[in-house]
Amino acid sequence: MTKWVYVFGDGRAEGSARDSHLLGGKGANLAEMCALGLPVPPGLTITTEACNAYYDGGKSFPEGLEADVMAALQKVGEMAGRGFGDPDRPLLLSVRSGARASMPGMMDTVLNLGLNDDSVLAMARESGDERFAWDSYRRFIQMYADVVMGLDHEVFEEILEDEKARLGHELDTDLSAAEWQEVIARYKQTISDELGQAFPQDPREQLWGAIGAVFSSWMNARAITYRQLHDIPTSWGTAVNVQAMVFGNFGNTSATGVAFTRNPSTGENRLYGEFLINAQGEDVVAGIRTPQSITEAGRIESGSDRPSLEKTMPEAYAEFVRITERLEAHYLDMQDLEFTIERGKLWMLQTRTGKRTAKAAIRIAVEMADSGMISREEAVRRIEPASLDQLLHPTIDPAAERPVIGSGLPASPGAATGEIVFTSEEAVDAVRAGRKVILVRVETSPEDIHGMHAAEGILTVRGGMTSHAAVVARGMGKPCVSGAGALRIDMRNRTLLAMGAKLGPGDVITIDGSSGQVLRGAVPMLQPELSGDFGRLMEWADATRRMTVRTNAETPADARAARSFGAEGIGLCRTEHMFFEDGRISTMREMILADSEAGRRAALDKLLPMQRSDFIELFEIMHGLPITIRLLDPPLHEFLPKGAEEIAEVARSIGVEAEALAARIDELHEFNPMLGHRGCRLAISWPEIAEMQTRAIFEAAIEAAKTTGAPVELEIMVPLVGLRTELDFVKARIDAVARDVMAEAGQEIAYLVGTMIELPRAAIQAGSIAEAAEFFSFGTNDLTQTTFGISRDDAQSFLQTYRQKGIIETDPFVTIDTEGVGQLVRIASENGRATRPGMKLGICGEHGGDPASIRFCESVGLDYVSCSPFRVPIARLAAAQAAVKEG
Ligand code: ADP
Ligand code: MG
Ligand code: MG
Repeated sequence: MTKWVYVFGDGRAEGSARDSHLLGGKGANLAEMCALGLPVPPGLTITTEACNAYYDGGKSFPEGLEADVMAALQKVGEMAGRGFGDPDRPLLLSVRSGARASMPGMMDTVLNLGLNDDSVLAMARESGDERFAWDSYRRFIQMYADVVMGLDHEVFEEILEDEKARLGHELDTDLSAAEWQEVIARYKQTISDELGQAFPQDPREQLWGAIGAVFSSWMNARAITYRQLHDIPTSWGTAVNVQAMVFGNFGNTSATGVAFTRNPSTGENRLYGEFLINAQGEDVVAGIRTPQSITEAGRIESGSDRPSLEKTMPEAYAEFVRITERLEAHYLDMQDLEFTIERGKLWMLQTRTGKRTAKAAIRIAVEMADSGMISREEAVRRIEPASLDQLLHPTIDPAAERPVIGSGLPASPGAATGEIVFTSEEAVDAVRAGRKVILVRVETSPEDIHGMHAAEGILTVRGGMTSHAAVVARGMGKPCVSGAGALRIDMRNRTLLAMGAKLGPGDVITIDGSSGQVLRGAVPMLQPELSGDFGRLMEWADATRRMTVRTNAETPADARAARSFGAEGIGLCRTEHMFFEDGRISTMREMILADSEAGRRAALDKLLPMQRSDFIELFEIMHGLPITIRLLDPPLHEFLPKGAEEIAEVARSIGVEAEALAARIDELHEFNPMLGHRGCRLAISWPEIAEMQTRAIFEAAIEAAKTTGAPVELEIMVPLVGLRTELDFVKARIDAVARDVMAEAGQEIAYLVGTMIELPRAAIQAGSIAEAAEFFSFGTNDLTQTTFGISRDDAQSFLQTYRQKGIIETDPFVTIDTEGVGQLVRIASENGRATRPGMKLGICGEHGGDPASIRFCESVGLDYVSCSPFRVPIARLAAAQAAVKEG
């Protein structure tokens, strides 16, 4: 016989925290708290297996479930000293859903189940408080009709507002017992009118209605969407918790609240939470009344004059503090708690590992490791690498003047400056045109996602810390100020009115998502502080990881940023970017348009000093670290003007006929440039380009070593090699120039020549290519394009569809396709190292900054990953976690 039901109560439980697969997170932790001897109202948990059986049986309760629940309920009643359906001492219940992972898409909790026209009288008699009994009954009817019967809760809110207005009351708590009875009569009438059925009076019918509703909610649209977004399998099912009620709405010695054992936004090790006197369920988070702080310190900090729990109910408070400490020490992590106080007696209703910001996560992990609660390795393991993004943003310089023009909630950390735009379309257009913008909206909706992506930051007039704008911005790691209520947006005149100032599109503002301030103009900023807890955690990560982390950078600014983020070298320096700058592109064009080798060499001679000085600066910044420099890679027409107007202009400036120029551009036109005349193919057609670049590199290395005293580790990389002979050809030129430069300087420079593995042929022939190549760097962007035969620039239209239709799970340009592209990487690594033992291997595609791909790189045994500067800390942490998993 399958065990469908687990009982908990009176210091004993049939399940434990280990049973969350069966009991769901909430049920497993209720059992655990009970077994720890904490005050938990008795109850029972119906397993996730029962949920699955319910669906297997075509939405009918599995055999034996009903009998098991009723038997368990008998025990719960005994523990509570009450009976379900008992006319004098009715057992009232809460019915709560609870999946393995916390899931907001599921059924809302139903409280006070078991109340009807008779038991409400018993409750009034027993409690001696009629108002309390009728308040509980109306809450039950409202919740049950909404959650189980599917009647919109707004219907009831309207009735209540209407009655309150009629009776001249402001707060729900002002209503008397008799007045609640009138409200209830209207509720019941509405239910009959709207649904054609009466509100169920039989407690058993109520109970099974609620259990069925929890099971059904597993397959509602909200829950399905949530599961898809969070990769939660449908097969998990949900558990149902049926628990004896305790009452926080039992007068002024009763209360209900929520708390965190540490501050979830800063991580500070101090109890943090809110409660409401004479309230029930989720009144605290529903914002009906302003909640009070649990601790006195919290009250003082928030500047509230409403008393803290610490002061109003010192005994219950003291016990609560003891319990929070006990729970944290037991679970070894910050807990998120729900509790109720009934006439001075504390009851625990929930505990779970609390959600937190990245900043709080780091502080909590570091402090827990320091206090010996957890190991350093565990601290490293606990931080989600992608979440570090939140910490890597600039902040406003504290020394800067702050021309404040408004303020709102600090909804997503970091500061941002940009021009005001009022719509997402404008945001996208402005950013395409190379401008930086702040998206200013009354509030945002899902249609604004593209605008939010494009913007530097988001400012909304309405909405709280959990508004759409706030939640989405935090997810994107973008600064956001929400609910800046004093600002006015006048869409007709397209102005933002802020403290007398009238601003419009194009005016620059700065938002500080960490303080909630809105500032006029561009305010000086500081780069993110990477020391403190963050620095220590990263040190621990660095001590754990095996792979090194490099960066993809060619500009001094990027190289410096990457160094400050802890990059240990450059894994990809794309030299072509150096030719796009003003003043250089025209020389580059001269070179491309020259019709003889001599002409090309003359232009290259002019490019040489420019390229050399770029390298000197880069080498000085990287100070002795390894640098992989890739020779010119893109097809040459990318450097040429497009469109008649631009062609005419360029022709004028370099002194050729526009027609001649247009003809040459035509000649260079390719149908499929990605697969065209690019990469090492350029160096084979025009070796003088590679020769100039090699000379610039070696002369710069010699020069930079003079100032730094530490020559960089040069790695010269030949792109897009498919054939061993291609590499042989180019390598011979590199070696020859290197020899010349070294002879001229009378100095030896150590260097490696290697190749990018970015074509399937190269991967398969890696064993032979490794005879010439001294290192491999996996260019997984091109390798993904060429392996799939999908152009990355054209893929988004159909990859989206692929994901929707379940053809692929993840975008292979974001997370490496381990079965296909990854298999090629594996083959090339093994064969390369078979030819050249210990050969240096790295990855330099976008995947180098993606945690899942980094895990794969660890499993293949690559020496390093290389990613964009801002992803370097993420890669350091992900590499550490990968090493722990592999080890
Ligand atoms: P959620 O998953 O949304 O947090 P819960 O099942 O925890 O939903 O229920 C929400 C709230 O209902 C709790 O925080 C608590 O205030 C109240 N509640 C749940 N069970 C009981 C109970 N047995 N007695 C009193 N209040 C309860
Ligand atoms: Mg809830
Ligand atoms: Mg809860």
